[in-house]
Amino acid sequence: MSNRHIISVEPATGEAFWEGEIGNVDAAVVTACKAWRHWAAEPLAKRVELMRRFANEVRRQEEALATLISRETGKPLWEARSEVSAVIDQVEISIRAYGERTGQRRLDSALQGTSALRHRPHGVMVVLAPYNSPAHLPNGHIVPALIAGNVVILKPSEKTPAVGEFLVGCFHRAGVPEGVLQLLIGGPEEGQMLVAHADVSGILFTGSAPTGIAINRKLASTPNKIVTLEMGGNNPILVWDTPKIGDVAALIIQSAFTNAGQRCTAASRLIVKSSMYFDLIAELLKLLDRMVIGAPFDQPQPFMGPMIDTRAADLVTESFLYFLSNGGKALAHMRRPFGDLPFVTPGLIDVTGVEDRPDVEIFGPLLQIIRADDFDEAIAEANNTRFGLSASLLGGSPEEYNRFWSNIRAGIINWNRPTNAPSASAPVGGVGLSGNHRPGAYYSADHCAYPVSSSELDQPRASVGVGFEQ
Ligand code: NAD
Repeated sequence: MSNRHIISVEPATGEAFWEGEIGNVDAAVVTACKAWRHWAAEPLAKRVELMRRFANEVRRQEEALATLISRETGKPLWEARSEVSAVIDQVEISIRAYGERTGQRRLDSALQGTSALRHRPHGVMVVLAPYNSPAHLPNGHIVPALIAGNVVILKPSEKTPAVGEFLVGCFHRAGVPEGVLQLLIGGPEEGQMLVAHADVSGILFTGSAPTGIAINRKLASTPNKIVTLEMGGNNPILVWDTPKIGDVAALIIQSAFTNAGQRCTAASRLIVKSSMYFDLIAELLKLLDRMVIGAPFDQPQPFMGPMIDTRAADLVTESFLYFLSNGGKALAHMRRPFGDLPFVTPGLIDVTGVEDRPDVEIFGPLLQIIRADDFDEAIAEANNTRFGLSASLLGGSPEEYNRFWSNIRAGIINWNRPTNAPSASAPVGGVGLSGNHRPGAYYSADHCAYPVSSSELDQPRASVGVGFEQ
């Protein structure tokens, strides 16, 4: 980031490949306010039609968008392609969600006329996006907000502005007016200005807990502003009695290391029944030995690319060293295989009995392992966090899953499935430091419109009753 420019750097090569000017917040909000009245007055059918055209435009540009996501984030092309599919799927999911969760309902009654429940848009919504899924995550806010009749200013992450620009371009080419969806290039400073702007009606935020808390604090005196906070996790994955060690190991690898561990739902703590410990670790190490780490366009395709930048890679390796110097036992050391570039090999560290384990999100390929002898002790360990985004139980009986489900504090609770593959056709969100009870994905419709209830008759009809002389 230079004075008035942001430069995007390809993590896999360290080369700058995109440069853009930092946007003007006041000008963007003025444009948005002007566009809103017209957009909100458009019939729903027209807004829906434009979203479908957007999905078609993304289909046409599928490979170009996937390639750009891979370049800018470093994630392998196969993974970027699945992100693009999620962008396309979001449109039909959001149309359905608008109808089911908001939209309009009528309750007729002969005596009281019609009772109607309708929803109205808020106005100018700001989407503040993270870097780890730079197309799918902002899109998950943009599409429901536009369907509901809001206008949107997207501020992509300063680490992935090129994908933000491409995404917004797809909406414009599909016919969404430029004032209705604007791109605002910028970093935290522009984010803060947007949050504080008096003419902004709502903030749709996906990012880290410290940023979410800062935004919440800034909005303390403006309860009229909608704020949705989708934040990070310190997610547990619990392994209990099962003979299927190979499957369990594969699910753990997927949960902890997909996208180099840079998913909000990534497993960061593995809690394993002590009697299964040695077999499971042996299986995990076998898989790590076979794991291909490389640049996003390498053939054969790697499982994992680099982290977003050197700072992120330094932070996660420092966390590994911290555990090591506080009594942790390294089972797989983290290495930096390609010099200064932000590639990091996955780390496995046994932290059983380590007292000083900070309850923070370590956003990278590092898995802490804790042994447990008793199922209740394992559940208590899983809940030993202020976060509450996702949790999985691998193995165990139906009764144990029932206990797990009933006692775990999280917004996503899975059985024999990874922690990190939530479906956009379900609500996605967490409790504690992971969110403010406004889950995204299917429930995004809820915070993009507010309900208005009306009791309606076509003529005034009333007569005075009790308390009046006849
Ligand atoms: P971040 O919090 O650093 O930044 C997110 C966005 O907020 C960026 O656009 C940034 O410029 C902006 N921003 C930063 N400081 C701001 C401030 N003070 N005021 C207003 N805006 C500000 O997050 P990141 O590092 O880009 O993304 C990774 C984080 O996102 C992880 O913590 C991850 O768990 C989380 N995440 C959560 C979900 C979810 O659905 N819960 C999904 C993906 C990522």
